Amino acid sequence: MKCECSACGSIFDGFSKPISFRKCWPEDLPDSPGVYLICVRKRGAAPEAALRSLSKLRKSWKMYAKYCEDYLKLLKRISDCPVLYIGRAGGPGSRNTVSGRYGQLRGGHVKEVPLSALARLGWEMEIRYRKCQRTETPQMERRYLKEYERAHEDKPALNVRMPRGE
Ligand SMILES: [Zn+2]
Repeated sequence: MKCECSACGSIFDGFSKPISFRKCWPEDLPDSPGVYLICVRKRGAAPEAALRSLSKLRKSWKMYAKYCEDYLKLLKRISDCPVLYIGRAGGPGSRNTVSGRYGQLRGGHVKEVPLSALARLGWEMEIRYRKCQRTETPQMERRYLKEYERAHEDKPALNVRMPRGE
């Protein structure tokens, strides 16, 4: 299946077909190192609602609210392109796999904050992967990020580092 973004074109042709994030089990994904994409399947409510919902949390747990806010600000960067994130699983010094990384994204990975916020706003996400050798993952990740950035003149919405002082 082709990405519907004209800027993406054929960059991600070598990736698996999309698997619904919500319906996926870790077993549906390969126990192999690789690179993966998190893409939008269906858009939901505007992300601003997630930031507004923080006002209550700010009163009860200020530090956690600040932590969430920094990640939720990334949602404002979402463009027409469905690709939200390009990542890698496993690499030199890491025995992680695509399947293992998916488990972390569902709970415990820093990107879980914006992803679960989008899910609560009715967004549906999907994951696509491309298996590769453990030693290749860093250069594969760099390659796809570079190609993406060249085509869109920006990184995927969730690939920027945590915004500070905004
Ligand atoms: Zn695109």
